[in-house]
Amino acid sequence: MKPLDSVKSLRECGKPVVGCFPPYPPLELLHSMGLTPFVLWGLRGEVADAERHIQNYACSVARRLAQFVMSDANGLLDGLLFYNACDTLRNLPEILREGLAESGAVAPPMFRIHVPMVPTEQTDSSGYLRNEFESLIGSLEAHFGVRFSEEKFAASVALYTNMRDLCLQLEEDVSQGTMTFTDFSENLMSANFLPVENQVELLESKIAGSGPSLDSESPRGRVIASGILAPPNSISRLIDDAGFRVVGNDIAALHRSYAYAPETWSDVYDYYAHVYGNHFPCTTLLYTADKRVEQIMKMVSGRRADGFLFVGEKFCEYEYLELPYLEKQLKELGTSVLAIEISIGDDTAVETYRTRIEAWAEMLEAAQATTSPRVGQGGK
Ligand code: SF4
Repeated sequence: MKPLDSVKSLRECGKPVVGCFPPYPPLELLHSMGLTPFVLWGLRGEVADAERHIQNYACSVARRLAQFVMSDANGLLDGLLFYNACDTLRNLPEILREGLAESGAVAPPMFRIHVPMVPTEQTDSSGYLRNEFESLIGSLEAHFGVRFSEEKFAASVALYTNMRDLCLQLEEDVSQGTMTFTDFSENLMSANFLPVENQVELLESKIAGSGPSLDSESPRGRVIASGILAPPNSISRLIDDAGFRVVGNDIAALHRSYAYAPETWSDVYDYYAHVYGNHFPCTTLLYTADKRVEQIMKMVSGRRADGFLFVGEKFCEYEYLELPYLEKQLKELGTSVLAIEISIGDDTAVETYRTRIEAWAEMLEAAQATTSPRVGQGGK
């Protein structure tokens, strides 16, 4: 279902729909308060209206989000929730408000939290985070006329934890070759636009449908895919068709989102202190930056990957600032790296990538034939 159709159908359920800025908003909290969270990434299509307000050297995530809120879904969102994820997103709420006012529309009510960007081992910021969540809960209660309850919150956490476990199981299916990376990423990205209950149903049906290994021959390369969004389907298909096995991913909209869920917690404040404190490292969570290389190296060696495919979101300075150092470390470990860049419109211009991806597959295959079990080539 397309995101716009999904918002329309969610509204028919009678619960207020809250558009959440990516990447890691507190979904369980909204759900527990009878609201439907709708994460505003993985959107597609033209951005003509947004371009009147946002420079064309902003990433596609921000431009598509703006297009969706100001134009496509104008009037359909009952609220917007955002946090200090990155500089681009931090500046968007005011742009959206002004842009909507200019066209005579009223911006939906906006809810904001500030996640402290300091390492937990350096400073205990749990008190600050608690204040932020107390204030958010108070604002949501006042605006929507709902009440927060720890019991309902625990039930929502259980649902989301189940959903994240299922994502990990499906990821394992891709790693084992019983599901294509295209099928996996397409399903998970579209699940993002469903209520969590339907996400669980979709993921369970996919797991039940997993069959024997799809490739009878050995893959031409075992790779880890990385980036902010899952690659467009057209590019994922090139990856599958080239004979790669995606044995793991470090994608913000995929693994980084579902990799961690607290096992024990005492209340909503403690839960989110764990969530943000122990999150899988992400370039947007600045306090996790030092742990990223170590985690990725662990993933590469644990999954016996011989290649690292970085699918960069054009103009995302967070990802591109890290890439040179990460690439150097990976190559020193003997892991080949291919970096490609995607931007608006690139899902229809795949031929640009075909040659590079196929050439990389040939290179990894040749390296496998001469070295065993790991390759030792840089490949950008
Ligand atoms: S792609 Fe990068 S710059 Fe764009 S919203 Fe995401 S983190 Fe921010």
